[in-house]
Order: sequence, then structure tokens, then C-alpha cells
Amino acid sequence: MSARLQRPAPPCRTVSASSFAETFDIARRNLENQLHEEENDSELDEPISPDLNATANPTPILSSSSTLTPDCLSTPPTEVATPRNPSEEEVADNFAFAFDIDGVLVRGGNPIPEAIEAMKMLNGENEYGIRVPYIFLTNGGGKTEAERCGDLSKQLELEVSPGQFICGHTPMRELVDKYRGAVLVIGGEGEKCRHVAEGYGFKDVITPGDIIKANSHVAPFRKLTEAEHANSRDLLLRGDLSDIVIEAVFVFADSRDWASDLQIILDVAMSKGGRLETRSETFDEGPPIYFSHSDIVWSAAHEHVRLGMGALRRIVETVFSDVTGGKELITHAFGKPQVGTFEFATRLLQKWRATQHGLVDSSPPDTVYFVGDTPESDVRGTNAMDAKSDNEWYSILVKTGVYEEGTEPAYKPRATVNTVLDAVRHGIDREMSRRSARQAKMGFHQDNQNTIMEKLAGIEINEPTSPVC
Ligand SMILES: [Mg+2]
Repeated sequence: MSARLQRPAPPCRTVSASSFAETFDIARRNLENQLHEEENDSELDEPISPDLNATANPTPILSSSSTLTPDCLSTPPTEVATPRNPSEEEVADNFAFAFDIDGVLVRGGNPIPEAIEAMKMLNGENEYGIRVPYIFLTNGGGKTEAERCGDLSKQLELEVSPGQFICGHTPMRELVDKYRGAVLVIGGEGEKCRHVAEGYGFKDVITPGDIIKANSHVAPFRKLTEAEHANSRDLLLRGDLSDIVIEAVFVFADSRDWASDLQIILDVAMSKGGRLETRSETFDEGPPIYFSHSDIVWSAAHEHVRLGMGALRRIVETVFSDVTGGKELITHAFGKPQVGTFEFATRLLQKWRATQHGLVDSSPPDTVYFVGDTPESDVRGTNAMDAKSDNEWYSILVKTGVYEEGTEPAYKPRATVNTVLDAVRHGIDREMSRRSARQAKMGFHQDNQNTIMEKLAGIEINEPTSPVC
């Protein structure tokens, strides 16, 4: 018979029920008492107190790469999974995983084979029989979070909820109240990013297609397809283009036509206060420009990495300087490696642990293992978060994406492994090893621990029930 932990249902739950480690320790202590009846371990009677050091979070969720800092950025996505009854499986309450997607779990639209096994391992198919909370943190985007989760669910053969998912443009939703007028949205397929932006609450979303439809001379070599022409909105119904003022530019996803998008971004950047079809005399009055991330390259289906949004950002800044006689254009980037993105992820993780795993009273996990393939964003951001955060952020670099074996990563991970499955194994094994070390430190003889472990494997553990409502 395998060991089984019995948990009371929320909201009235024993404090100890939130902790696999504590439950494990209680069982271990009981067994130790049986083995050493002559010894009285006073610790058994001590109440187990929850750690009340909840995260302080009112800091902005994202840091801008520029001197301007987006404000009001503190709220994780509101979509969370429907709370479910806690399973009888144990849940690791003191550590969790966060994953990049491209080059770690998926490549070229197909799952990396070890990814499916890795997810199973986190969902309890491991030698310790524990489930480990996890979230996804990708710089990618171009679809609604729900759509991306649907794609990922199919690829990984498991249910992925928007409540455990952050993509590059997710934080842009927090700027809705700041920009209530017209905004220019760049990137993605067809009208998808317009719909994402409108779903976030932006009221007047204009795309490059709208502008080209109104004035085809804007981009001499870009001809809208019939579908693009039909889907683009008729800005001239409002009057002259110069009546429209762009309050901000958001590059939601990778551009599908770099030349025309670059031209239109630069036109707006050089305009009089964002007014279309105008030119500033000073070139310093354009609206802010936000990129959902700044990855120069990313891991796609091609054997070599492909150019990403960060490359377009560099081009925009460089060409702006070229065409304005040396003026500097300051743009802003969200996503990894910005520490604010990781702080946002911390809060999402806490919500997810509460709604999905019943860890309502818990503080943030002691350790978050972040698995990524890009040293410049994944490792850099994780290490920066680790330096700043009270809890540990542990960077693991995999070899299935951007990073090429044999090269020296610009930012050093705590561990480098072949695949995401190895990363998950590494994290879980490290936690179990640390747990054993803690137990050894508490003074238990190894022989007795072995005996205890053998016995634990064959008994049912009943927790003391003193509900805390
Ligand atoms: Mg990646």
C-alpha cells in the first residue's frame, strides 16, 4: 500500500495540511517515536505556524529600459483557474517551477519530446509522489492568453490555464487607464493583436493596415491583401489623418512586415505629439513606444536562431538617430529579463498556488526554478530577481533552444542541463536532497531515517486535525 496523505477540504484546513514538508515531518516524527519509545520529542507537540511573511507587492511589475517607468503595473492577470478541491496527492509547498516556452517546451510549433514527460513529472509522476506548482513565462505573444494556453495545452497534452500564464504583452493591459485615446498596435497575424488590445480594454486601437488603407503612399512597397484591406478600418471616416493623435505605440508581437512597420513607427516617433502625417521640428515630442520584450533572437524551427522583436527595436532606435541628425529615441521594453516581470510572475504564482493547490496561507515558495533557453533574458532575469528577492530564484539553462553547447553564456545559470526533463529532475532532486540535509541536521541517525523511509512507503499517514478557519 502506498503512502497517502489525507487533507481536509478548504476553507477550513489544518495549517499543517498546506505543507507537504510538515506533513512528512509529522509522519517521520511519529515513526521515530515508535522506534525510540524511550525518547520524548517535544517538537511533536509544537503547533505548526504558517509563515505570514506574505509578499509586499505594490512595486511596479515591470521596469522599463528607459528613464520612463510605466506605472499602475501591479496586478497579475485576473483569469485564474476555478478553485478545485485539493487532491489527496501531496503538493510541494516550498518550491515551484516557472518555464519559458520557445526553445524549452516547444520549438517550431511542436513540443520538445521531453517536455510532455517533464509536465507529467511535475503533476505527480515522480518517485516522491508529489505535485509541484508551475507557471509559464514567455516573451512570445500575438494571441490572447486564452488562445496561447489552448495551443500549449494541445502541445503538452495537459490543461494550461491563463491563470498560470504570462506572455510578453500581458502587462500592457495595465496601461489601459493611462492611454484612453488612440494607440498604435504593431505585430502579429491579421487582426489578432488589435483584438488582444481591445480585449485588454484599449478603446481606440489603430494598426498599420488602417494607416496604409488611408494613405497607400505611407509604405510604397506594401500592398494590402484583399483581406487586409477589408479588415482594416477606414480612418478617413473620421476626417483627415492629421486629426488622429497616437498616444502610445505598442509592439505586441513580432512584425509580419518589418519595412512598413518600421516606417510607420518612425513616422509616429517623429511626429508632432503623435499626430499622424505631421513632422516635429525637434524630434522629441513623439509618443512613448513599448515593446513587449527585447529578445534579439529566438528559437524557431530553423536550425539557427531567428531575429526577434529586440532586433526591430534596435533598428527603430538606430534609424531614428540616422534620420533625425543624431537624436536619441528612448523606447521601453517589457518581458524578461526585466525584474518587474519576475515580480509579476511571483504574484501570479502565489495566486495559482492558492487557487489550484489550496496553498492559501503560504508565503511565496522558498525556491522558484526558472527553466529557460536564452541566457540574455531567461538567465539574466532570473539571476537579477534572485539578487533582489527574499526567496530564491534558481536559473536552469537548457540546450534545446537559443543557447548553443560549447559557447560561454553571457549570463551564468546555476545549472545547465540537456532538456527540460533534466531541469525538472534536477530541481526536484535538489529539493529532496535539501530536505534530507535538513532532517540530518535535526539530529536523526541515517540508519533510522532509512528505516523510516521504508516504513513511510507502506503506511497511511493521518494528520492531526485542528482546523484553522
Ligand atoms: Mg526561449
